[in-house]
Amino acid sequence: MKLAARVAKIKPSETLAITAKANALKAEGRDVIGFGAGEPDFDTPVNIKAAAIKAIEDGFTKYTPVGGTDELKEAIMAKLKRDNGFEYKRTQIVVSCGAKHTLYNLAQALLDPGDEVIIPSPYWVSYPDIVVLACGQPVIVNTLEKDGFKMKPEHLQAAITGRTRAVVINSPANPTGAAYSPAELKALANVLLDKDILVISDDIYEKMLYADFPFANIATVEPKMKDRTIVVNGVSKAYAMTGWRIGYAAGPEEIIAAINKIQSQNTSNPASISQKAAVEALNGDQKIVTTMVGEFRKRRDIIVQLLNEIKGVKCLSPEGAFYVFPNVSGVYGLSYKGKKITDSTQLIDYLLDEANVATVPGAAFGSDDHIRLSYATSLKNIEEGVKRIKNAIAKLD
Ligand SMILES: *Cc1c(COP(=O)(O)O)cnc(C)c1O
Repeated sequence: MKLAARVAKIKPSETLAITAKANALKAEGRDVIGFGAGEPDFDTPVNIKAAAIKAIEDGFTKYTPVGGTDELKEAIMAKLKRDNGFEYKRTQIVVSCGAKHTLYNLAQALLDPGDEVIIPSPYWVSYPDIVVLACGQPVIVNTLEKDGFKMKPEHLQAAITGRTRAVVINSPANPTGAAYSPAELKALANVLLDKDILVISDDIYEKMLYADFPFANIATVEPKMKDRTIVVNGVSKAYAMTGWRIGYAAGPEEIIAAINKIQSQNTSNPASISQKAAVEALNGDQKIVTTMVGEFRKRRDIIVQLLNEIKGVKCLSPEGAFYVFPNVSGVYGLSYKGKKITDSTQLIDYLLDEANVATVPGAAFGSDDHIRLSYATSLKNIEEGVKRIKNAIAKLD
């Protein structure tokens, strides 16, 4: 059957594919430990669930305005003021079906064929394909492990052309956990100040920051960038609400109106019930976030230590999010039963088959020397899973 050419230009999300494969093996009865999933293992807090149940019981089950209810927009505006110090008008906020959908709509709203979007690598799997689906051109800027996987101003400068429309900054980052300090963001802002380039600031891991500096985005460190920054955020990660599908953007009115128009012809509003839950998440008690983040930090310290005890594996201690991105290239060239492991895809296949551990190949994120492990899983799983990896790697020669 003939399909549109765009289908062949993108790949399915590799993280979702790995999670599906690990789940299929589990269903067959295999004792698989999953480090693949990009979502908190905690349950959605009870006050948030109660708000959704009440929404159903109250009959709040119909279409809402396309870009979200005024009540949720007000809660988002209050959050942006409280956490980021910014005043936005209601017309500067749009709510979508998850931050991924927000980013998709944003690319559709901004890009003409050939327009370039700068994406630092390693990158979240979906950025390049979201740009390609909008007929844009991803421009990948490689960052170095020795720079903590952070883009330097000179790398940004060198990637800019007359076609550059936007730069994606994701801090803390998926998959590396890298977080930009206010000073590092300021240095990137200095490159952009005299140019007509937008910043797409993916702040979804804002709350999961373990560094000794406070969270910032490019607009908070350089207010002159505010009119050219689209802040993308959501409730999935901070409130363990991945299944509820609520994300949002805050930015220039014209862009927000364009997203709204596009959304009116695809999904319409995000689920009314989820919107009520998101209001409770943003306005309710925030202690739950601190508790989860404290747990993640403990797990991070342990998983980094355990991974660094494996020969051939080197792991930086990430400053945010809930992923580690160890360099496993020290293992490449070794063999198992005569079969050589030479890249991240072969290594993760070996780890799944021989150690019953699901991880994600760095190749999916633009870096074949690494694999990604999510530590959004219990300490028990972390200890057992990394032990299995260690034993499997010890079997290579
Ligand atoms: C998880 C994630 C998102 C999107 O999450 P949604 O569930 O769609 O809100 C966006 N960006 C990054 C980097 C992520 O890891």
